[in-house]
Amino acid sequence: MKSILHAARRTPVPQWTCNACRGIGDATTTFRPKNAARLTTAEQLRQAGPARTRFAPSPTGYLHLGSLRTALFNFMIAKATGGQFLLRIEDTDQKRTVKDAEERLYKDLEWAGIEWDEGPNIGGPYGPYKQSQRTTLYKEHADHLLETGNAYRCFCSARELDTRARYRAGLGLPPDYDRKCAHIPKEESDDRAAKGDAHVIRLFVRDRYPAFDDIVYGTVRPRTMIKSKAYEGSFDDPILLKSDGFPTYHLANVVDDHLMNITHVIRGAEWMSSTPKHVALYQAFGWSPPRFAHVGLLVDKDRQKLSKRLESMSMKELRDANGVFPETLTNFVALLGWSHNIRSDVLSMQDLIENASMKFTKGDTVVSLEKLWFLQKRHAARYASLQPPKPINPSHDLEELAVKPIMRSLDRQFLRAPHRFSFYRTLPEGSARLDFVRLLLWADALNYTSPDDFILRHVYFFAQPTSVALLSNSYRLVLYQLPPEANNTLPTSKFLPMFQTIYDLSEQDWSKPELKARIANIVDNGIAETLEELKKTNKDLYGSKIDSTVHKSWGNLVHGYIRWATMVGKPGPGGADTMAILGRTESLRRLKVAEDILQRSSD
Ligand code: GLU
Repeated sequence: MKSILHAARRTPVPQWTCNACRGIGDATTTFRPKNAARLTTAEQLRQAGPARTRFAPSPTGYLHLGSLRTALFNFMIAKATGGQFLLRIEDTDQKRTVKDAEERLYKDLEWAGIEWDEGPNIGGPYGPYKQSQRTTLYKEHADHLLETGNAYRCFCSARELDTRARYRAGLGLPPDYDRKCAHIPKEESDDRAAKGDAHVIRLFVRDRYPAFDDIVYGTVRPRTMIKSKAYEGSFDDPILLKSDGFPTYHLANVVDDHLMNITHVIRGAEWMSSTPKHVALYQAFGWSPPRFAHVGLLVDKDRQKLSKRLESMSMKELRDANGVFPETLTNFVALLGWSHNIRSDVLSMQDLIENASMKFTKGDTVVSLEKLWFLQKRHAARYASLQPPKPINPSHDLEELAVKPIMRSLDRQFLRAPHRFSFYRTLPEGSARLDFVRLLLWADALNYTSPDDFILRHVYFFAQPTSVALLSNSYRLVLYQLPPEANNTLPTSKFLPMFQTIYDLSEQDWSKPELKARIANIVDNGIAETLEELKKTNKDLYGSKIDSTVHKSWGNLVHGYIRWATMVGKPGPGGADTMAILGRTESLRRLKVAEDILQRSSD
């Protein structure tokens, strides 16, 4: 009776042909593709030809920033090269499977605009795309490795393994496997298996784990290259098939990537330590591995692992609770560990695909949510400028993305605290309120982040400013940066009547352009008057730089006053926009309240 170890020794070491390097190596050869281009520019990537990539999540949790980024990078590369992007569900760990994870995953990817060409619910030429439906295939492949002496059955019980691992750990040795079962003669092993003796199948790893060439990290050498010599009697022979007949991640992942013709594996750096095992498996099968690109981990500002809160930020939370747009999120995660040569960081999905490359950053990437909100504002402004009649993609439509969520949030808040909506409640329910929100959003899209923030930012569009609020944020009628004589000529009694032109505007003519023209007129009159005054009193200044200072000061004064009167000075759209949105009655009412306060304080 010969042991499988002997059999393995007798069996010629499998030869494997690497299509990429066209070389022949044995199980100890470093895998290095001949065309090891880093693919760091969009041109290089395209020249390399169509890529078949995949996203292979385990349904043990929901999509989060890190996994979305992995999916997106794979999607971008496939689309940029005219290749295919596959979705494969790695559900071999049934115990850890979360019930609705798979359903949510489909929804979340679709929402993000990441569409797969082949996958569980649409099928494809290499299906099924769920690993739990491919178990026979893995078993056949594990058996093949048994036959070729590249694997062996291990009958050790979990308890036995644990006892031995503890003992080894006590000696300061790695708790790996001692290969006890590799010495069981093949016939005996077959016999015991036929009798139903519980066992796993392990890969018989030769002396060295191969180094591999990574697109991001270059040549990666496993830390313990020569296992048997470095740690006598300790072998890292990974389990391929578990005792329940289910494959482990290593076996299923390699078999599927090969059978599904995957050309590039882009995944998180947390999988990098598994890759030598995978390359060893490819070699044991005699297959040529795909190219690997490992992308760094996501960390917080203190370079710590992402906080639980950030890490677990599910798509649902980002989308439903924070109102993040799909393209904001894909833009945001794309920038986490990928660099590009484009001038702006604000990139639509189309831009991402057009500029895709494998210029991934080595090392960890810091996640800061400030960038997310910056991008959200830019995308909101971009969508606001894509006015109909241009056909609008629903996932780029502010109506769906922002107006509806704002209305929902308003309804909720209104119910809770109606007093905070003293103006909004005066608008007739229905389309008038909707139009009001719509106008406001379009006027200030460049500052839109989320529904709640929108309502808070524009609090005085919803509530009438109280005199108390106006008084506690008092407004000073001062022409800043001008000599005192310019201000001497600016009494309240002269300033306030200048606004008569606004009062004179009829309901019919109450519009942004008309208001804009009248406000500009007020500013011009003020400038003329001040320049005239300065000419009389301070001849030296007239005609010098003072001219532009007067322009600026009057601009600030008039616009500042309108902002104070209508919005208690809070930032938001410009004065003409604000008054157009509030309407004539409300705007004039607010101007009047402000006027009374100014007048009273100047008495
Ligand atoms: N199923 C693994 C995961 O959950 C796949 C890792 C890989 O891409 O190889 O991320």
